Amino acid sequence: MRSLLFFLLILGQAFATENDLSHRPKSFNVNGGKAVFADFTEAQYKISYDLTSKRAYAVATINFEMLEAGFPIFDSVTAPSTVSLDGESVSAIETRTPQNETMARYVNKFTSIGAHELKIELPLATLVEFIDNGVKSAFWTSDLDERRFLERYLPANFEFDQVKMTFIVEFIGLKNKQVIYTNGSVQELNNQSYKIEYPSYYTASSIFFHTVPQGLTNELRFKLKSIDGRDIPAVVYFSKSTWNTGLERLKAKTIEVFQELESDYGPFPHPTLTVLQAGMGGMEYCGATMTDFSALGHELFHSYFARGVMPANGNSGWLDEALASWRDDGYQSSTFMSGSSGMSSHPYYTRTTDKAAYTFGARFMSFLDGKLKTKGGLKPFMRHMVDKRVFSPLFVEEFVHEMSEFYGVSVHEDFKRYTYGSSLNLDHSSNKSNSKIHRKMSIEELKNYL
Ligand SMILES: [Zn+2]
Repeated sequence: MRSLLFFLLILGQAFATENDLSHRPKSFNVNGGKAVFADFTEAQYKISYDLTSKRAYAVATINFEMLEAGFPIFDSVTAPSTVSLDGESVSAIETRTPQNETMARYVNKFTSIGAHELKIELPLATLVEFIDNGVKSAFWTSDLDERRFLERYLPANFEFDQVKMTFIVEFIGLKNKQVIYTNGSVQELNNQSYKIEYPSYYTASSIFFHTVPQGLTNELRFKLKSIDGRDIPAVVYFSKSTWNTGLERLKAKTIEVFQELESDYGPFPHPTLTVLQAGMGGMEYCGATMTDFSALGHELFHSYFARGVMPANGNSGWLDEALASWRDDGYQSSTFMSGSSGMSSHPYYTRTTDKAAYTFGARFMSFLDGKLKTKGGLKPFMRHMVDKRVFSPLFVEEFVHEMSEFYGVSVHEDFKRYTYGSSLNLDHSSNKSNSKIHRKMSIEELKNYL
């Protein structure tokens, strides 16, 4: 039994690595050589909040594999204060990708094929607020702007890469208690520090992390009964200082959506569920969301599509938004489609989601549902994708291939015509309807919800 478990564990890791390798972005030329995307295998982040000096900082220790020789790429919006590679002090350079799609950093040292270790120290200043009795801090993300996943706060890889991540969080000089809301497993090491382990299938867009001094939030903890028999620990909460619907209503809506999704797409894919009611619109994480009440269904749907069946890059990010918006609109079916979009064909290193997903993308899903009506429509395929591709980040081309295979009918031409066109031909007629769901919130706005 034990050896079987061990075997399955190794097998799981092998799949993650294989998937990472087949989705690793291609290298590009930089001054004096080639910047190369590495496969991060493990990352440990030591996150320190010094309540005495009111400073926060992090040390990331990243183990990675180089598949080709060159300058290893990582990303961090904040400039590191020190970087070392295999124990030797090095420098890192911030660069734009070849078509100016996004930015990243690379270690300015030629690095051979094989296993290496990168150590990066940096200040933690974004969404950190020290108050009298503790600290408020969060790593909230967005897919509507560049560099808004984990790299906004900590050194991380691009979204394709699944990495075993661990946080060691310490609150230096803490007198009261801090609460941590997160989608990892939390272990209290002593009354000032915690170890949080995240599943090895997580990527830079998976982690939900929010800590506040005890007493500032109202929370309700309960168990969700899954159709597979599990009792899934759930928490719904909000800050006492923000507008809310009340915990009971939030819990009732969470249970209602959870049951709807389980009956459509099978057992909830995550071990826990965390719901923070805050702000306008929402954002999804693996088994977690920060959302307003009206977007709760949309965001929990993303625990199946976006943070269950995961995008490997920006050009596949529209799929889950289109599917979520199609659900929001009541799974409408249509036989008519006009216009075009470039949702699948942005420049190679694009990391953001095309906002046409919410409107044009949702209508495209209605169209596909209508086209495939005699074969049961789109929902059976979606359930199939959760069964087959959960926690294996994918490209849009793989999604199209899976769909064609599932129905025995090619949908390549449909995707080509409606999602690989020029974005200039976009039909903006209903552009307003869903734009509130993932409304962009500035850092100043987000601070209000800490
Ligand atoms: Zn969404």
